Parts: sequence; structure tokens; C-alpha cells
Amino acid sequence: MEYLLRLGELTLKSRRSRKRFMDILFNNIYDALESNGIKDYRMIDLYGRVYLEVDRDVSDILRRVFGLVGVVEVVSYEFDDLEDIASKAEEIYRDIVKGRSFGVKTNRVGNHPFKSIDVNKVVGERLLKYASRVDLSSPDVWVKIEVRDDKVYYYLREYPGYGGLPIGTEGKVLALFSGGYDSPVAAWHMLRRGVEVDFIHFQLGGERHFNKVLRVAVELARNWCYGYKPKIFKVDFRPIAKAIRENVRQDYRIVILKRMMYRAASIIAEEIGADALVTGESIGQVSSQTLRNLVVTDMATEYTVFRPLIGFDKVEIIDVSREIGLYEYSKIVEEVCALVEERPVINADPEIASQEESKLDMSLLTESLSDRVKYDLRIIRPEQVPMTDEYAVEPSSIPEDAIIIDIRGSFSYMLNHIPGSINMTEKELLDKADEFAREGKKVVVVCPVGLDSVEIVKVLREKGVKAYYLSGGFKAYLKYRKNIQRG
Ligand code: ATP
Ligand code: MG
Repeated sequence: MEYLLRLGELTLKSRRSRKRFMDILFNNIYDALESNGIKDYRMIDLYGRVYLEVDRDVSDILRRVFGLVGVVEVVSYEFDDLEDIASKAEEIYRDIVKGRSFGVKTNRVGNHPFKSIDVNKVVGERLLKYASRVDLSSPDVWVKIEVRDDKVYYYLREYPGYGGLPIGTEGKVLALFSGGYDSPVAAWHMLRRGVEVDFIHFQLGGERHFNKVLRVAVELARNWCYGYKPKIFKVDFRPIAKAIRENVRQDYRIVILKRMMYRAASIIAEEIGADALVTGESIGQVSSQTLRNLVVTDMATEYTVFRPLIGFDKVEIIDVSREIGLYEYSKIVEEVCALVEERPVINADPEIASQEESKLDMSLLTESLSDRVKYDLRIIRPEQVPMTDEYAVEPSSIPEDAIIIDIRGSFSYMLNHIPGSINMTEKELLDKADEFAREGKKVVVVCPVGLDSVEIVKVLREKGVKAYYLSGGFKAYLKYRKNIQRG
């Protein structure tokens, strides 16, 4: 198939920045195609358009490459003269205009002995005998033709792109990512303007909750983040929420929690070289997002905080979430109420906020950050992060009568493991499946971070084993045990 890719704002750039933008755009298109398993294609910069030849329909993939305003499926020919253009047009469009009104639009680049309107006229005359009539204001069919030097391109189908700028042309930000509707949509708007986005999630719920958040991020990454390798950081914020509950006056707790998130995010932003933070906040959506509270929260960071959704209503945000394919995933991410407040302050005072904050031991923050887990979102397969968690067990609720199988490497196992667990390779475990099924034993599979085990559990279930995976893996278990020891 052949495509013409229409560039949006890229055509406005100066010659020098254009070259840089085009290099990045090409790189992102390669990434989009290759990560979707497409290896056989040819791409040419036609200045103003990109020409792509490929062995299958890729319109749905290309639409999601930012910087493109349209994806046009075409057929192209080298032509000799105007007659030649008209004959080919007749062949292609004859059936399409049959019995309908039509108009011809031509776009011409290069030196030719004819003008665009000449093409319109000649092609129009050829097609009129098949069509009902010519209509140049709102025809049933627009016949669109592009003549570029010695080639002519006939439009077959047009798909709108999302415009914006190629990702990677505008630096990097760190998005505070809760996984609900707002923060993914906020991140998407930054991506659309050419910004690389990494993500940070402050864990307030259990591992199963995090898995749902992770799934949203994985979907965003595999469908929209072409051209770079997005990461998500998981930071356990439960100890911080607990300290806030115990030390901070009730009405300021949510504002302080937010400020702590901003502080933590700023530290990671610095580390990864991000230039700003991004959140999904919009004015007045909930009590912590009053204008005043946003301003006071902002004071906790020296970074610029971008809020692409600041002026959006919730229904509009949810519409975008649907449009970009995240709705189904965000929908199942529950709000975690780490702090239940009767009457949160809506007019926070910066003095009081810092006063309250000073009651917290800031080493908690350093500790949570040093324990963080980083995931490479483009490497995780969606199957590893299932939508349902029916086979998940939390570290706090491993059944007493279960056999615990640790599939990590033997060295990791030797260093540390769950008491009573058995170390096996994936193969050894699968070889034992029939035996476990026969005995009706419950099996809990433990892997490093709770991704590899998901797929094995699926296989074991097919073989009739009552298998579960440890949500969050051995890492989550360690954290759980540490928290218990602290009391
Ligand atoms: P969302 O739909 O994004 O969950 P929300 O409507 O639930 O937002 P809040 O809970 O006030 O509103 O969160 C506002 C913003 O703060 C979020 O969009 C996100 O950027 C950030 N945020 C909130 N909770 C977390 C969290 N646990 N981890 C990371 N960022 C968070
Ligand atoms: Mg939320």
C-alpha cells in the first residue's frame, strides 16, 4: 500500500529546524512501524509530505504518530502528460463517482506545462459521464489529486492524524501519574506537543491496585510513545501517608500529601533530567484542586508544573480518555483514600502548610525514593498486566496452605527468599504442573516484580492447577515485611 503523510506545523519551521524535526519524525515513524512488527517499508521525504510504501494497512498506527495531521492512502504513477493523468483518474474513480455528485481538487508542486485547474477540468470532464453532476461546494465525493514533479498521487482514503509535534523535539517532563482519567490524558497532551514523558506513581494502595495503574501506563506507552523508551517509577508512599495521618492537622493533610508528592517528583525529575512536572489537575475539580490550594502546593517545588487540563471539564477529559483508548483501563483504577478528611481546607495558607510539613521526618521521603522500582513501559507486554486480578495474592495474604514457588534465579533465591518457598526454574515448575493439579494443591508463584509470574500462572491454570501469582513479586514481599517489622 502507498501513503502520503501530511505534516502539520512542521511545514512552518525554518530550514534548519525542519531538518531536525524531520529526522525525529522519521525515527518515530520507524519505531511505530517496527514495534508493531512491520519491517518491510520504504519512506521518502517529499518536502511537505512523506511518502510511504508498505506491505499492509498501517493507517491506524500512523495516525498515532504525533506531527502528522493526516494519513492518506494513495495510488501513485509516473505520468507523461495531462492526458495520462486524466486516463488514470478515470480508471481509479469511475466506480467511486458513479451516480453521485463530485468535485476535483488538485494540489500541484513542481514545473509543469499545465496548472492545477487544468487538471481539475480535464479529470472532471472524464468523470462527468459516470457521475450525476459536478458540485464544487459540497459534493458526495471529492476526487483529490496531487501532482508532484513527475508523479501523480490519487487519494483513496483519508484518515485524520492528531497533529502536534514529533515526540523528542521538545525535551522531557515527569508526569505524576495516578492512572485515573486525568493524569494519563494530561500526559497525552504533553506527548502530543513533542515532549518525552516519564511517569511517577506514588503507591497508596496495594500491589493489585498498582497493577491497574501500570496497565494504563503500558497502554499509553505502546500506542502513543513512539520514538523513545518511557519509564514509570513506583514509589511507596504508604509510610508517608501514615506519617501525615499521625502528625499533620486534619484539614491540611491532603495539601501536605500533594506537596510531598511534588517534592518527591522533583527529586526524580532532577535525576532523570526532566525539565518540568506534569499533573492532571484542573481548577476546582475536587477540594484539593482549588486555585488557592494548587498555588500552595506549587510552592513545594522549584520545578515548573504543567497542568494541561487546567481548563477542562471532567466530561471533556473522559471524552479524550475514550478517544485515545485509555478509558477501559482507567475506569477500573479505584481512587485510593489514603486520607479521609472531614473538611479539607480550600484556602490553604502557605505558612501553615510549611509549619505542618515541618512536623514530618523528611528522611521518610529519601527512604521511599531509594526503594523505588523502575519499569520500562515499552518492554512490558499487556498480558503481563492483566485487567482482572482474580489470580493475584497480596504479600499480606499468602494462603497458609499454599506451596510457594520462587522462580527467580538461584542466586537471588540464595540471598533472600520467603521462608518455606521452593526455588524452581519456570521449566521445572511446568513439569510439575500435572502433579500439582492432581493433588489439588494451591500454588503461589513468586517472581522479581510480579510480571513473569502472571504468564506462568495462566499456563498452570490451563493445566488445572490452583495457581496464583504474588502481586508485586518478591520486591513487594520485602517491602511488606519491612513495614511489619516497623510496626
Ligand atoms: P486523576 O484522575 O489523574 O486520578 P483526580 O481527579 O483523582 O486525578 P487528584 O487525586 O486530586 O485528582 O489528583 C490530581 C493529580 O495529582 C493527578 O492528576 C496526578 O497528576 C497527581 N496524583 C494524585 N495522586 C497521585 C498518585 N498516587 N501518584 C502520582 N500522582 C498522583
Ligand atoms: Mg485520581
